[in-house]
Amino acid sequence: MSYDPTNIFAKILRGELPCHKVYEDDTALVMMDIFPQSKGHTLVIPKAASRNLLDADPAALAAVIPLVQRVARAVQAVTKADGLRLAQFNEAPAGQTVFHLHFHIIPAYEGVALGA
Ligand code: 5GP
Repeated sequence: MSYDPTNIFAKILRGELPCHKVYEDDTALVMMDIFPQSKGHTLVIPKAASRNLLDADPAALAAVIPLVQRVARAVQAVTKADGLRLAQFNEAPAGQTVFHLHFHIIPAYEGVALGA
C-alpha cells in the first residue's frame, strides 16, 4: 500500500487541521490523542512521509526512537502513571486507522482499565 498525503496526520503536520501540540522539531510532532485510551495518551508522529513501520526509512526511524523515549519519560513524569504502553499498528487488520506512521504512548494506572 502506498502513502496517501490526504491522511489526517499529514493534514495536521501541514497545519491544515488543529491539534493539541505538546512538542515539535524538524523530525516529529508530538500531540495528545483526540480519543485517549487513558489520561495522558500521547502520539509521536514522525514528519517523514511513511504509511507505517514497514515503509519507513531506517534513518528516520533511528532519529525518532530517542524522541519516543524522551516523550515517554515526560508523560510518565507528568501523569505519574504506574506504567506505559508503547503501541504502533501496521495496516487496518492490525488496528491502524490513520495511515501515517505514529507511535502511541499510553499511560497505565493501577486498577484502571484502558478506555476508562
Ligand atoms: P491508529 O489506530 O492508526 O494507530 O491510531 C490513530 C490514533 O489517532 C487514534 O488513537 C485516534 O484517536 C487518533 N486520532 C484520530 N484522528 C485524530 C485527530 O484528528 N487528532 C488527534 N489528536 N488524534 C487523532
